[in-house]
Amino acid sequence: MEKTVGNLERVHIIADPLIAGHIESVLAARGIYCMVRNRHLIGGAGEIPPLEAWPEIWVDRDDAPIARQLIHEVLEPAGPTPDPWICPDCGERIEGQFAECWHCGAVAP
Ligand SMILES: [Zn+2]
Repeated sequence: MEKTVGNLERVHIIADPLIAGHIESVLAARGIYCMVRNRHLIGGAGEIPPLEAWPEIWVDRDDAPIARQLIHEVLEPAGPTPDPWICPDCGERIEGQFAECWHCGAVAP
């Protein structure tokens, strides 16, 4: 498939048209014109559409690098994961996103 058309470049393909619409509004808020192809999926509810039918985000080639960065931020909004911690009560190693020990219920120090 041709990746560029005129001055437009495809920067992302995403299965969910709602997220595609969200990306579109985020880009527009930054003044980046974008075109969403295949906004309306073919197929019934619950069906997974073929890849060719997924919404595609196209932007001006000059805007492609910043658009990719913004899309990355939209899709992975989580900040850095907190450091894991060791439970003071039972010594279990707990992932940083948890505030309590899954093993004994102790609160993170
Ligand atoms: Zn514990």
